[in-house]
Amino acid sequence: MKIWLNGKLVSREGAVVSVFDHGLLYGDGVFEGIRSYDGRVFKLDEHLERLENSAKAIMLDMPLKRDDMRKAVLDTLRANGLRNAYIRLVVTRGEGDLGLDPRKCKSGGTVIIITDKITLYPPEHYANGLEVVTVATRRNIPEAVSPKIKSLNYLNNILAKIEANNAGVLEAIMMSADGWVAECTGDNIFIVHKGALTTPPTHVGALEGITRNTVMQLAGKAGIPCAEALFTRYDIYSADECFLTGTAAEIIPVSKVDGRPIGNGNPGPLTLKLVESFHALTRSEGVPI
Ligand code: PMP
Repeated sequence: MKIWLNGKLVSREGAVVSVFDHGLLYGDGVFEGIRSYDGRVFKLDEHLERLENSAKAIMLDMPLKRDDMRKAVLDTLRANGLRNAYIRLVVTRGEGDLGLDPRKCKSGGTVIIITDKITLYPPEHYANGLEVVTVATRRNIPEAVSPKIKSLNYLNNILAKIEANNAGVLEAIMMSADGWVAECTGDNIFIVHKGALTTPPTHVGALEGITRNTVMQLAGKAGIPCAEALFTRYDIYSADECFLTGTAAEIIPVSKVDGRPIGNGNPGPLTLKLVESFHALTRSEGVPI
């Protein structure tokens, strides 16, 4: 396995960063998760744009410009001979000293690109749906660290994931501080009511998921109404269908929430239609490796 680290392709053992890196010491950095299908990187520029926007929001100068970043991703995939891959980009503030002041980081940032085989939810959940729970851990308020920033501060999500683990399920639905459904620990959420899709607006405290945006576009093309609107747990319990979206998860049907079957407890027709058109899209576009 070759890992891209600050301009060099190194072995897994050689891919080490300083203990004074502020990404490690303070979670001061940003990241992306991208996927390639059949030798093409899906939505590469959308992911690079989100990475740049996350970096801009925390006033982190991107060590690489867009074209160099794109090339580095493709080079790493080629070096690893990967066609179907999960790609993790990490950009940290770089090496500094103790003390959180970002001005201490003079190395110009740390850039890491890891490409690996994709790990998914077990296949039976795509066929039968995933059971999830809502959890007590609230999403960070946008006025503190905005959940729109894909930062290295994932402790909020990890706390919710621990609650999911404790409940014996694989994913958790998180609410905003005032009780609106926001998103999951690593996925966005959609519900279906009488043939129309709803997903929470990002201002409620959700990442602007690239899969989420793709699903909204696919719905538009298929003439399926889709709105960004606030909703509560009750609206999930009473939905006809529910599904989650994410780069790793793609579109995964939800069968049960907090013990309540969603619809008849099986993946619904609209979810399955979107899964099909999403699969077709991932196999028909992307930046060639
Ligand atoms: N929400 C969170 C908190 C995430 O970390 C992710 C990415 N894994 C998503 C939603 C889904 O975003 P995307 O579709 O861009 O992968």
